[in-house]
Amino acid sequence: MFSNMSERDKICDRCGRFIEEGGDFYEVEIVIKAGFDGVIKETEDTLDKIVQDTEIYTEEELLKMVYDKRKYILCVRCKEVWLANPFLKPI
Ligand SMILES: [Zn+2]
Repeated sequence: MFSNMSERDKICDRCGRFIEEGGDFYEVEIVIKAGFDGVIKETEDTLDKIVQDTEIYTEEELLKMVYDKRKYILCVRCKEVWLANPFLKPI
């Protein structure tokens, strides 16, 4: 963070570029949630695993395993670069 940033200044989360108040930027919101196709494959360990998980992980950690939402700021250049290959596939 820059010490003299105003409340409306932004920093690109990808490249770290300073985006001054009134500058162009994009907001990226990513929601990742557990998929469910309606089928639960039940094995002998299924219930034991669920009980074990509730003992190992906090409520917050368990929630993040099935639902997570994040927000990022991108400068104009990084928006184009990111959209061209968001999953960093080899080109
Ligand atoms: Zn950037």
